[in-house]
Amino acid sequence: MTVRTRIAPSPTGDPHVGTAYVALFNLCFARQKGGEFILRIEDTDRMRSTPESEKMILDSLRWLGLDWDEGPDRGGPCGPYRQSERMTVYQDYARELVEKGHAFYCFATAEELDQMRREQMARGETPRYDGRGLALSQEEVRARLEAGVPHVVRMKVPEDGVCRFEDMLRGTIEIPWSQVDMQVLLKADGMPTYHLANVVDDHLMKISHVIRGEEWINSAPKHLLLYQYFGWQMPELCHLPLLRNPDKSKLSKRKNPTSINFYRDMGYLPEALINYLGRMGWSMPDEEEKFTLDQMLAHFDINDVHLGGPVFDREKLDWLNGRWIREELDEEQFADRVAAWALNRDNLVRIIPLIKERVEKFSDIAPMTGFLLSGLPAIQPADFVHKKLDEETVRRILQFANWRLDGLRHWNRDVLYMELNQIAEEMHLKLKEFLFPLFVAIAGAPTAPPLFDAMVILGPDMVRARVRHALEVAGGVSKKQLKKLQKEYDEISRSRGEHSEEKS
Ligand code: GLU
Repeated sequence: MTVRTRIAPSPTGDPHVGTAYVALFNLCFARQKGGEFILRIEDTDRMRSTPESEKMILDSLRWLGLDWDEGPDRGGPCGPYRQSERMTVYQDYARELVEKGHAFYCFATAEELDQMRREQMARGETPRYDGRGLALSQEEVRARLEAGVPHVVRMKVPEDGVCRFEDMLRGTIEIPWSQVDMQVLLKADGMPTYHLANVVDDHLMKISHVIRGEEWINSAPKHLLLYQYFGWQMPELCHLPLLRNPDKSKLSKRKNPTSINFYRDMGYLPEALINYLGRMGWSMPDEEEKFTLDQMLAHFDINDVHLGGPVFDREKLDWLNGRWIREELDEEQFADRVAAWALNRDNLVRIIPLIKERVEKFSDIAPMTGFLLSGLPAIQPADFVHKKLDEETVRRILQFANWRLDGLRHWNRDVLYMELNQIAEEMHLKLKEFLFPLFVAIAGAPTAPPLFDAMVILGPDMVRARVRHALEVAGGVSKKQLKKLQKEYDEISRSRGEHSEEKS
């Protein structure tokens, strides 16, 4: 059997370090067994998937030096490798399951299902689909289908007993069937859900080992059933431990930047980042902390992965990156890498318009543009003191700006101006006052070159990271406050015009 592994990212946001971590372990496992590593794009969520996000994922994995054998960009024998281009395949398989009696049509409306869940909760039960679609006679089903009543396809699930499956790292895992819902396989619009598309594609793409994050363990029983229903051999399963913040919570962008682009923009070397991700749950036989991808490939053994949640710690990464820079780059290489990072002609040409009007001599350039070439600015709570804005308003501005910036698909001057100006209006603040905390957050000072242009040059990942950092410096927001702010934000956002970016 040829070993074939894959990653299957959904292009719904920034390229996540967790994707790179899972990709790395899949790549190592496949290479070590003389197998193949495949990249598949799971873009069945048409509302949230974007081509921009897909491109960023591919670019960032390439930047890290992770290479795949088959994928949407390079084709291969099992293509297409983008799920949105395989829609009819899933519909045929869903129909097959209905015909074999393993799945059924469900015509329940959203309101009906809400009502069902409310009643279950009132009875103290865990809300779950109660199988009502199964009660319909074949004639009733046919009549409704002919009348064009909206419907989904759901899979049947045993009512009792326990689902058992093997995990390469965890041994036998048991999950009672009572905890497994009768999963929707095909949505009302004919789109497959993750579960159906994932199983069908893993089979058709001849994936032998599914190595993915721990958060998918609870999906395994549904997948196992689907393999049985289709009469297919299930791939081996391996659930890698989740990356964690230093406080052991699940790695989240609120506490730690998670976008690979952020690390690229900060000036980390891809070799160092890959090296660091390789240390997430795994170590070299001689415990050496610094190693190349080739060295990792030569020594990797998936059985050596430890399950204790690996901590993604920026300080540790800094230390490792420092070693890479100092030990691996001579002066020439150093200069080339810094130029490739930001000190290059193209970047200078982008920066010059921001300062040209004010420069009197070239030695003014570095102090004026230092913030464009830095990481998170060294700001203090006192930097946010303003005579018209109290501390709470400062935090509210930063939090609202953070949410708005997070939702942006397009990152250009006009969009940034329009969006931020709009929140300022919604908050009944003058733009100048509203922008004050953002200047401090992004440029490190209340006066700086034009903010929107600077934001374009810095890029979304760096700007978002700085705004989040500023929010922490300005006192942070507790969970309770966050809820309150979210409510306020939703209220003001509701009144937004049709032309707004988030809705486009
Ligand atoms: N599309 C899923 C994700 O975004 C894939 C999970 C899996 O590997 O099965 O991570």
